[in-house]
Amino acid sequence: MKLTPALVTLLGDTISLDAKPGWFAVKNPADGDILAYVKDGAADTAAAIGAADAAFPAWSKLTNKARSIILRKWNDLVLAHTEEMAMLVTLEQGRVIKETRGEVTYGASFIEWFAEEGKRAYGRTIPATLPGKHLQTIKQPVGVCAAITPWNFPISMITRKVSPALAAGCTVVIKPSEETPLSALALGVLAKQAGLPDGVLTIVNSVNAKAVGEVMTSDPRVKKLSFTGSTPVGKLLYGQCAPTMKKLSMELGGNAPFLVFDDADIDEAVTGVLGSKYRNSGQTCVCANRILVQAGIYDRFAAALIARVKAMKLEPGWWEEADLGPLINDKAIAKVQHLVDDAVKKGAKVETGGHARDLFFEGTVLTGATEAMEVFTTEIFGPVAPLFKFETEADGIRMANDTPFGLAAYAYTRDIGQAMRVAAHLEYGMIGMNDGLISTEVTPFGGIKESGLGREGAMEGLDEYLEVKYISYGGLGEI
Ligand code: ADP
Repeated sequence: MKLTPALVTLLGDTISLDAKPGWFAVKNPADGDILAYVKDGAADTAAAIGAADAAFPAWSKLTNKARSIILRKWNDLVLAHTEEMAMLVTLEQGRVIKETRGEVTYGASFIEWFAEEGKRAYGRTIPATLPGKHLQTIKQPVGVCAAITPWNFPISMITRKVSPALAAGCTVVIKPSEETPLSALALGVLAKQAGLPDGVLTIVNSVNAKAVGEVMTSDPRVKKLSFTGSTPVGKLLYGQCAPTMKKLSMELGGNAPFLVFDDADIDEAVTGVLGSKYRNSGQTCVCANRILVQAGIYDRFAAALIARVKAMKLEPGWWEEADLGPLINDKAIAKVQHLVDDAVKKGAKVETGGHARDLFFEGTVLTGATEAMEVFTTEIFGPVAPLFKFETEADGIRMANDTPFGLAAYAYTRDIGQAMRVAAHLEYGMIGMNDGLISTEVTPFGGIKESGLGREGAMEGLDEYLEVKYISYGGLGEI
């Protein structure tokens, strides 16, 4: 399926419907149709940084309220285009339409939140230690920021970085994923309509991510890099930023455990797994990766989950009733198939699903999963739920923490003491306790261990784009 006329109009001259030298094709993963061609801007990266640098003085001098007014207009425009933007995400990323409407409103929620939160970039007055002094901190924008984002949330991963940066007074150059450049371009069109001045936000699309990344990380005018993507690329960029000592935010891979204890409410836990594991066909960094089920409830929980997964509809994302759309590309399909085959070879049983159908992967449940299988150590990024068995609370926690990652973890139990103990002992940045859907704009999103640095959303998300300056006023006499 191709772009709708409304989307062609919205995207305007940011796309071409015909092939052009130096422009790359964007494909619909559900059927392989070419949606549009987009300019490869790798060679323009330095100029984009120059424009961001030139725009910084005027943008950072505006009052927070003046910036907030523009951001609010941007939010309103995105929401006014919810249906078009949702269809755009479905067409270029494959995610089902009933979920992509949520991606648009979730994406806009960051713009709305930071439009307001930017007004609260407070400093402090600190009681002086000597007479005649006044000790103060102020918060100032970091400067030009670079951002690199993935394809799995092509709107919200952008707004989650760009909105706090702009609200703080920073300017931004962003490189969206080459798989989903159109959602980013549409956001840019709406930002311009909202009155964002030239140079404040520049979108650089490219199939040569490495080249863009090298310019962004080596240019001393860039003061901060915010990256969401895989752990290996995150580590590479971390190193590349060292010579110019950039501030960093890194939201990297996860390997989320989903613990189901013996006294859990089975229906609630199954609903939690469906939300956390199968959302976006399993392609989110907070997706439940390892379903760890206590022995006493294992069989009943497995039966209930299998029944619900069997009922899920695998269809192109633009079908209203579709539950699971295609995966992003052939590589993703091959990886998920390999993980299932590895588990089966090592003794797991496929209870439902287990196969690819073109670029679609069936909703899959594996029982009898063990720690020897690659699904225990690898982020699956597909609609496959491996069910592991554990005996005691201590075993469950040990298995849950047995990974270098520490992004999100989930646990289901109706015992309040167990809930508090488990939440305290899970080595993760975010815990869903009897909750499978944890992401909101008002809470700090981020991981520990090799899952990253910093937090996005909430008041913590604004601080990532602000420097604290301490000023000691002396010689003031008696005040
Ligand atoms: P994923 O597997 O989710 O695509 P990646 O880490 O490969 O994760 O991609 C996330 C983002 O990082 C994308 O925008 C991609 O283009 C970009 N990227 C990939 N490799 C590099 C690199 N070497 N330098 C800079 N950006 C990169």
